[in-house]
Amino acid sequence: MLSIRKIKLMRVMTPILKYKLTRYAFSAKLLVLLLFAYHIPGMGGEGGGPKFVLMRLEDIGPGGQYASLDQLGKLRAVLEYLRDEHVTYHLAVVPRWIDLPVNGGRYDVQLDQSEDPYVAAYQKVLHQAVRARAILGMHGYTHQVGNDRRDDDQHESGIGNEFNVPGVEETMSVSYAEKRLKEGLSILNNAGLKPQFWEAPHYRSTHLQDEVFRSYFGLNYQADVQTKSKSPVAQYVNRRINGYGASTLGSAYVPTPFDYIPNNKDEKVIVDRVGKSNNIASFYYHPFMEFKYLVPVTDRSGEPMLRDGIPEYRYPDSSRSQLQKLVFSLRAKGYSFYSIQDYVPFTPAHSVPLPSGGSKLLVEDANGDGQKDFMFWDPETGDISVREGHFQGLRNEPQAPFTVWAHVDYINGATAAVSGKSADGPCSFWTIHPSGQLDRYGSDGHHFSLVRSWKIDGGMWNSLYTLRLPGGDILLAGLTQDRMQLHGWLIHEGNLKVLNPYQFNFEYYM
Ligand SMILES: [Zn+2]
Repeated sequence: MLSIRKIKLMRVMTPILKYKLTRYAFSAKLLVLLLFAYHIPGMGGEGGGPKFVLMRLEDIGPGGQYASLDQLGKLRAVLEYLRDEHVTYHLAVVPRWIDLPVNGGRYDVQLDQSEDPYVAAYQKVLHQAVRARAILGMHGYTHQVGNDRRDDDQHESGIGNEFNVPGVEETMSVSYAEKRLKEGLSILNNAGLKPQFWEAPHYRSTHLQDEVFRSYFGLNYQADVQTKSKSPVAQYVNRRINGYGASTLGSAYVPTPFDYIPNNKDEKVIVDRVGKSNNIASFYYHPFMEFKYLVPVTDRSGEPMLRDGIPEYRYPDSSRSQLQKLVFSLRAKGYSFYSIQDYVPFTPAHSVPLPSGGSKLLVEDANGDGQKDFMFWDPETGDISVREGHFQGLRNEPQAPFTVWAHVDYINGATAAVSGKSADGPCSFWTIHPSGQLDRYGSDGHHFSLVRSWKIDGGMWNSLYTLRLPGGDILLAGLTQDRMQLHGWLIHEGNLKVLNPYQFNFEYYM
């Protein structure tokens, strides 16, 4: 099985190599560098000590402080401020909002009621934020409990507990969690929103309910409360989950040890704490706390203006609000705003079954959709098969099957590699044959077809590697079957240049 972890590793490779390439001539040394670069077991990480914070905007849903078009206009102004400041942030979205007011009646609005102009406007605001790279997650289903008004306000979305609610037996069951998770996901799906993380309301859940959540989400934006509710850093659960859909790898939990800015405090509760502990500087913020700083945008006659049917608001100046001061002060201290996907560089996500028969799996974006696909060349049949990767949905959604994109007869001593986007399409599939032939097949998004062949020295091959160089040249390296020699070829404007082979003093194993 191969996880998304490995796929991301491949992406990391290119900038590192580009940097190193500036320091090496095309030589045998470069070939060896190429070979080793394929096996760098992960780069960067916390050891390098980047100064960063993680910020989540909390309890975003179709009610409460965001129940009117006017409030939605203010929320949009806050999100657009963050967009314009290039601040990376997260949105914890509650799909359905319920309240049972004291004077009777029932407030119940869900984010997929698109025929409701308010909900349609809400969807627009969230879609706009996601397009501007906000990371949207799912924060429970209703973030409240029950259908009856309670003295402790637990009936109200954004305030109430939803799972493992003391005294409410049904909220502790697995089936209750699964049903609500599915209903919430269905609402988000209908609204065209794809959640990237899970966060249980008030971080409350049972151990078995967490297994349900982990079946759907690899990334949890909360502490793993079953093991350590006050964790200072990310926690990992290294267990395969088979409960609800396809098998997946483990899960990551990103806590919020910096908590949030309470009503009676200001940005200093965050700013003054950074850099003083080993806690990850992760916190959440309620964007309605910004609303008092905003002013309506008016036309010449002083009338409030609408944009996309939503009242337009703006900040009157650039440094007065709590959020503005927070952003400014953290940046002044040298901090950047990260996403949890930056912080957990390899999100435990999907698993993709390897081809049977031990064929080497090749990974590249074969269809040009921006996501990695999986390829192999079957030595038995000669089929080159591709499994198109779809990683933006939930982790337990089934992946597409392998389909045949080309047929190239395989003989012992032949091998293959892939390279990325070029003038020949989103992906190239390369084969070398013992007879002394190098072939390049280009992708049209659905199939590979032969683009060009070159004559090379004959020989038995163990494996082939490719590296795209700045300017579009391709460097290929072939490891001989005895693992003692590395041969290199440079493809420049369609012409092949043979590089001096490199002789190992040992059998090279990766
Ligand atoms: Zn909440």
